[in-house]
Amino acid sequence: MNRQETIAANLAAVEERIQRACDRSGRNRSELHPIVVTKTYPASDVRILAELGVRDVGENRHPEAEHKRDEVPEPLRWHFLGGLQTNKAGAVARYADMVHGVDRPKLARSLDRGAQAANRSLDCLIQIDFAQTDGRSGVPVSQMAELAELVSQLPHLRLRGVMAVAPLGVDPEPCFDQLQKISHDLQAGVRGADIISAGMSGDFEIAVKYGATHLRLGRVILGDRPPLQ
Ligand SMILES: *Cc1c(COP(=O)(O)O)cnc(C)c1O
Repeated sequence: MNRQETIAANLAAVEERIQRACDRSGRNRSELHPIVVTKTYPASDVRILAELGVRDVGENRHPEAEHKRDEVPEPLRWHFLGGLQTNKAGAVARYADMVHGVDRPKLARSLDRGAQAANRSLDCLIQIDFAQTDGRSGVPVSQMAELAELVSQLPHLRLRGVMAVAPLGVDPEPCFDQLQKISHDLQAGVRGADIISAGMSGDFEIAVKYGATHLRLGRVILGDRPPLQ
């Protein structure tokens, strides 16, 4: 199989698993938005994905994300995932279609200024950290409401929902369950904040069970990631 055939086969297998997870949870497939996480994979893979009909891709590093976006002519939605340094927020705010990792007031304000400078409004998700170990991205649950309040008031950001990465080595179910409850509370206060970005290659079927709307899938579609430089 060439690269295109391999990726096509993986996409088909994932599609089947998503459909089965929906069937088990009584959910409609149309509620699920897979994002193919292309970080560390070459731009040629992104073009193959686009040719195969993928419309949402995810990256987690600037300027890698910006370079790939410039190299791939097809119109795609670019999701910026995970930790983001404040000094890169202005650049990311120019090209990202959605930022999944808003986790502190300073970052929110920088993204807002960047979006204002680019004359656009930017869809954002608040990343919640359930592990609470130093150095992980994400806001602790206890500070989530305050941050949501700020993001929803910044004029160039649109608060669209929540995101989380299940902590390594523990059962993801309680975490996804709590994320769904947090999302429910958020939606009571903020209109249109109905996105739950949860589930990766190793746990996406469980995330579907707990209301995930956006799945972030890398390895299961593109194969084992080349080691980081
Ligand atoms: C890399 C990454 C993913 C995808 O992980 P896979 O295990 O390759 O599916 C999802 N979310 C975030 C935040 C990531 O950094």
